[in-house]
Amino acid sequence: MEMDQLVALCKRRGFLFQSSEIYGGLQGFWDYGPMGVELKRNVREAWWRDMVTAHDESQVPPGAPSAYEMTGLDCTIIMHPQVWKCSGHYDMFHDFMVDCRDSKRRYRYDQVQGRWAECDSRRVFVATAVTGQEALEETQNKAMKFFNLRAKNADRLTWNGPLVSLTTIEDFAEVLGPDTKQLGTLTQPREFNLMFKTIVGALGGEDDAAFLRPETAQGIFVNFKNVVDSTRVKIPFGIAQIGKSFRNEITPRNFTFRSREFEQMEIEFFCHPGTSAEWYRYWRDRRYQWYVDLGLAGDRLRLRDHDPDELSHYSCGTADIEYAFPFLADGEFGELEGVAHRGDFDLRSHMEGKLVRQGDGFAVEQNEHGQPKHRGSGKDLTYYDDLTKERYLPHVIEPSAGADRATLAFLCEAYTEDEVPDEKGRPTGRVFLRLHPRLAPIKAAVFPLVRKDGMPEVAREIYRALKPHFNVFYDEKGAVGRRYRRQDEIGTPFCITVDGQTMQDGTVTIRDRDTLEQWRVKKEDCPDEIRRRLTA
Ligand code: ATP
Repeated sequence: MEMDQLVALCKRRGFLFQSSEIYGGLQGFWDYGPMGVELKRNVREAWWRDMVTAHDESQVPPGAPSAYEMTGLDCTIIMHPQVWKCSGHYDMFHDFMVDCRDSKRRYRYDQVQGRWAECDSRRVFVATAVTGQEALEETQNKAMKFFNLRAKNADRLTWNGPLVSLTTIEDFAEVLGPDTKQLGTLTQPREFNLMFKTIVGALGGEDDAAFLRPETAQGIFVNFKNVVDSTRVKIPFGIAQIGKSFRNEITPRNFTFRSREFEQMEIEFFCHPGTSAEWYRYWRDRRYQWYVDLGLAGDRLRLRDHDPDELSHYSCGTADIEYAFPFLADGEFGELEGVAHRGDFDLRSHMEGKLVRQGDGFAVEQNEHGQPKHRGSGKDLTYYDDLTKERYLPHVIEPSAGADRATLAFLCEAYTEDEVPDEKGRPTGRVFLRLHPRLAPIKAAVFPLVRKDGMPEVAREIYRALKPHFNVFYDEKGAVGRRYRRQDEIGTPFCITVDGQTMQDGTVTIRDRDTLEQWRVKKEDCPDEIRRRLTA
């Protein structure tokens, strides 16, 4: 599947629109249309249900060290600025960027790569912002143009070494930036804070600056004590939250994959330090399986454990759940979810102040006066176990998923083309979304075969019986084949058709989106039949 085809379908059928499109759009912001809103809501609801409300705390789930409890929260987007200072985001949430003085474009320093080209003893580092095979082609074309070479003189150009990151280059004077024809136009790398700043209060000044949260996790940590004190939860337990996060991404791209406003689905799971490694493995495998169960069952999904040098400043173990999105080069994967063992880093930072690595452990970072650089809350966030009489700071396992990236992966995986016979039996091309029934925006469509002979009345009756339970759609316009095709394109798993036979024996046909199999059921059995099929 080409990404353009999916993007076109998303727009045509109301899944995704560019934000503020009539004004030319705003880069990195996306709106979910009538179908998209249902799909993303189903993703979120499946997550919340599977992780929180349907969790049975009275049993030990397969692979878990013990039974555990799950609960939820809904925190504000703007929080006390000290939260971000202690969490490390204020100081560390940046990427290094380079700007191009000529093209006025900005690139993530670590994402620009290039190779050394040589022609008539002149060496130039030809840079590109694309990856894989495309990067090789682009650098080749750029070098040919730069050295003014025609195809027949191509052998005057030689390459010294493979593609390497711009971070390995010291002298930017010899660099030909990704979107320019001149040498040496890239600036030195600069820090760039990804948090959106805002001012709280009408007359607020710089001291009242606050930030839109770049992740939902911190709201959970700062409420840890509230949850323990107000409920009867006992460790081990998890707190889940779904909500918007904001990052002023430098290069938003690849449809919704890298947006500036997006939604996260995060769990902070609190456990005893002695069992945290086992819990980490449990959550890593459990979260991976969740995607498999909802349809990402092919080899485009993978679980990748981080190398030790890739781990974040707090982590003792991290795995990414990744998907081979079609916009990536062959063999490349994009992160859907990170599952991290965070130790006691977060609770400790909010207790004592911002931490930095010291030897094998962490210590509160000091300023030049020997004081904490960013002071913590000073509140006691330890946990007291009244059974063992032990007081300790829990360890945290964090499965952190993106609702938008998951939705995009489900769409990519679902996009299917096949051939089906048309009304006259001739094979014709069909595009359909093979979405898991739990995720499909519409669960069933109800059609009268023709708009006469009492069929619309019966079809409406069936529609009304289904509507309180499922998102169903009624359609009586146009040829029935076209109606099927429209439902296939938005991933509706079942179509129910009232035809001549219905009027005689009270049965209707149900058609399966994927197999095209059709079978008859009594019209009053439709709700039970659809329920049974959706949960099969
Ligand atoms: P990346 O390396 O791709 O920027 P990240 O490692 O910074 O991602 P996390 O901080 O681990 O991402 O965030 C957890 C999840 O939130 C990600 O796995 C992803 O699903 C989602 N997410 C993060 N940034 C974005 C974004 N800009 N747009 C959409 N989803 C995002």
